Amino acid sequence: MPLARLYPPGTKIGLTTTIPVETVLAAGLAPVDLNNLFITSPEALARVSAAESAGFPRTVCAWVKGIYATLQDHPEITAVLVACQGDCSYTQALGEILEAGNREVIHFKFPYPPDRQQMEQELANLQARLGVTPEATALAQERLAPLRRDLRRLDRLTWETAQVRGEENFLYLINSSDFESDPEAYALKVSEFLRQAEQRPPRSARVRLGLVGIPPIFTDFWDYLEELGAGVVFNEIPRQFSMPYLDLNLAEQYLRYTYPYDIFARLADLKAAVRERRLDGLVHYTQSFCFRQMFDQIIRERLGVPVLTIEGDRPTPLDSRTRMRLEAFVDVLRP
Ligand code: SF4
Repeated sequence: MPLARLYPPGTKIGLTTTIPVETVLAAGLAPVDLNNLFITSPEALARVSAAESAGFPRTVCAWVKGIYATLQDHPEITAVLVACQGDCSYTQALGEILEAGNREVIHFKFPYPPDRQQMEQELANLQARLGVTPEATALAQERLAPLRRDLRRLDRLTWETAQVRGEENFLYLINSSDFESDPEAYALKVSEFLRQAEQRPPRSARVRLGLVGIPPIFTDFWDYLEELGAGVVFNEIPRQFSMPYLDLNLAEQYLRYTYPYDIFARLADLKAAVRERRLDGLVHYTQSFCFRQMFDQIIRERLGVPVLTIEGDRPTPLDSRTRMRLEAFVDVLRP
């Protein structure tokens, strides 16, 4: 069992992906999703170059380089919680590089394949490391339940009535990895947004798209799809971050979460979304140099709807080729 390391309340803890945030909150700490911190910065592109100047190869995913360089500018993030299993080997290596630079690193392993006993052990290790009890974590989970329910409602308003736009859906759900470091303030923000969205007239998109894969690194992806008149009514990974399955205990919740495990649970989730949300097509976003690109073939073969695969590298606007391909795809799907 790892030794407890107690941090003063409010200490910022970086997250490299969605990791049991309930434990971080139970310890009174402020979770910071490093992906969101990187990508929302006006310095995002420069940070990728800065990581390369610091020695990261060109052939490493830009998200990893962005996180590394972002952390150099944020010394107040005391420790980083790294998924050393269930994310990717780049993240595992990043953890070691951060440790070599004297950043404190805490590891979390999503069991592969998913296994209840191992998940319970990993949660117990994390709780022990942060000095919290299972009861305190369960209480943190209970406190988040109304917010998670609201996020579920926000998602429904996206695909049932289009009162929530695809980009809004994406942003609210993606931020549920860390709740912008303050779940109470985030809950108020979500509930105020829902109040306004519910007053909008229902709409129906002419082309109903789903976005599959990790969050796109492009800076104008959403604006361009809106320009084309396509509605994204399903955001696979942000929805997973929001933990849309209610009334599960913590171990079950993180075992049901599809992102860290094999492709088959993801396929089942995608199939259900295609059917329930009446999707006309899917855009599969892939990241340059990411192993997840290998799943493209199986995603294209198994879902029974047209799939357009696009690839992004750095945080830049869409290149002209990708714009043309998106336009042609939406044209083909338009009734
Ligand atoms: S995009 Fe792929 S390679 Fe990059 S951090 Fe995510 S899983 Fe790893």
